[in-house]
Amino acid sequence: MVKVYKYRIYGGNIMLLRGKPVADKIKKTVINEVKNYKNNGSIVPKIAILRVGQRPDDISYEARVLKNCNVVGIEAEGIAIESNSETENVIKILNKLNQNPKIHGILIFRPLPEHLDTEQISRAILPEKDIDCMNPINIEKVFVGDKNRIAPCTPEAVIEILKYYKYDLSGKNVTIVNRSMVLGKPLSMLFLDENATVTICHSKTKDLAGITSKADIVVTGVGRGKFFGPEYFSKESIVIDVGINFENDSICGDVDFEAVSDKVEAITPVPGGVGTVTSMILLNHVIKAMRLQAKMQYF
Ligand code: NAP
Repeated sequence: MVKVYKYRIYGGNIMLLRGKPVADKIKKTVINEVKNYKNNGSIVPKIAILRVGQRPDDISYEARVLKNCNVVGIEAEGIAIESNSETENVIKILNKLNQNPKIHGILIFRPLPEHLDTEQISRAILPEKDIDCMNPINIEKVFVGDKNRIAPCTPEAVIEILKYYKYDLSGKNVTIVNRSMVLGKPLSMLFLDENATVTICHSKTKDLAGITSKADIVVTGVGRGKFFGPEYFSKESIVIDVGINFENDSICGDVDFEAVSDKVEAITPVPGGVGTVTSMILLNHVIKAMRLQAKMQYF
């Protein structure tokens, strides 16, 4: 039985779609899979994390991934290189990681410094080790609906949250406010796979509130703290807030939670929503990657 948390805040009932129980469920599966690999094949799942430069958000994401790896029993190797490193240097490192049968997943923090050729670097990651869907070969799989794909982590987290809380997505009107390759575009494909009807909005969209307020499900990812007030939603809206914004030393989403949460059907909190699930999806992708590599008899 799935628990949907109802809190009474500011005089209303809030259906809070917390990320933790979703992440915990995925974590259990990953722990079991890791045990199986260790017991049955003496294989220790391992990821390599490549960080270019010293961006604080990369460093904090890296720390979170390392902590989670430790919890589920996945080995992790961090590789940090100077922010002025050349594209060729990054590709050389990737080639080594691709060829190393003890490394099953490769994660590179994005965005990369501007002088680097992100496309060339993305193409250099072996698709079967590409746990955050950077290589265009994997992106294409998402767009053609190939089930043997590793989708980008954040869009997959959005779908996992909705499924965990038992929302039937078939026939639902979904509006995504974001058209990036990290979120909006691949997410629209994942919703189509679930037979939802999808609208994508962006900074040039006219009458944004008119569109979002008519949708059954609204996914926000504009990267602007508390941008969405109650006028963007209806009381039936299911709101998935992907935005992570830093304001006055604290983290908030794109949605003005205090003003909106008791006026909609359900909402994810920030922090404690999509981001919590995204981190665990990444580790689940290591297991998926291992299965793909086993198919090509890589280890
Ligand atoms: P991005 O590339 O900057 O994309 C932002 C999108 O929002 C663009 O499509 C942009 O439209 C649109 N937008 C900006 N201002 C708007 C406005 N006033 N009205 C309507 N649309 C507007 O950012 P991103 O990399 O996709 O990330 C988006 C957010 O998600 C960030 O807050 C990021 O921190 C967060 N994020 C969270 C997770 C997680 O795990 N929770 C993971 C990744 C990212 P245009 O295309 O027209 O510019």
